[in-house]
Amino acid sequence: MKLLHRVRGKFNELFVFELQDGYRIEGVLYRGDTLCVSTQVGCPVRCVFCASGRQGLIRNLNAEEIYGQYSLLKGIFPIKRIAMAGIGEPLLNWKSVKEAFLALHKEGLKISFYTSGFPLNLLNELIDLPHNGLTISLHSLDPIIRKRIMPRAGDLYLLISFLREKIPQLNKKRRKKISLAYILLKGINSSEKDLRALAELARSLKVSVTLLSYNSTGGFDPVSGDDYERAFLFLRKKGVKVTLSSRFRRDSIGGCGTLTVGKK
Ligand code: SF4
Repeated sequence: MKLLHRVRGKFNELFVFELQDGYRIEGVLYRGDTLCVSTQVGCPVRCVFCASGRQGLIRNLNAEEIYGQYSLLKGIFPIKRIAMAGIGEPLLNWKSVKEAFLALHKEGLKISFYTSGFPLNLLNELIDLPHNGLTISLHSLDPIIRKRIMPRAGDLYLLISFLREKIPQLNKKRRKKISLAYILLKGINSSEKDLRALAELARSLKVSVTLLSYNSTGGFDPVSGDDYERAFLFLRKKGVKVTLSSRFRRDSIGGCGTLTVGKK
């Protein structure tokens, strides 16, 4: 594989990698020292708010291709952290993702993950790895809405009952590494009732919420700045620790949900 080109955004730098078979995937450097890497060419979960899943899954990346995104850049940037949060669902390419994780971990890098949470036996394995952060994408606590916006994600209730059983077994330090991701989509999942359900779950699991603002990739509207802040204050008032979308996550270059695949 090779680095095809680099695109500088306002805050991020985007990298397009070309694989041996001509497919192109993307990675993003943000905060100057964190590299977000892709784990699949396309994504089988097909979240409707994300450009990465638009074509479904084309193929899995092998461990060398995941690690390669780092090794092609490590001489250029002082990379200290890896986020397995680019194109793809890490748990649906677990063998290669785990192999790449172990190689990256050996180099002393701090590695975090984003996942939609299935299969549960692999989520269980992932939780027990020495990761530096695990964000589980919920986006709705209504199974019908979640199915609409994350068509190929696993069953919501099975995921929640797994989390209710697993998370209390973790010590406080490990539990603090886990967060529930929730992207606010106007008129879809951002009512007070929706936020109350999210607050109740986060509080009962004693985990934080990562409140994402939507980078427009077509089909939805983001909530207004005021509504975003209102949601943040609502959750905080309910006693939930909330992480907000940083400027890196919102950059039109390399922001959440904007990465795409291509072919030569
Ligand atoms: S948000 Fe993540 S799981 Fe959903 S389609 Fe995009 S890459 Fe896949």
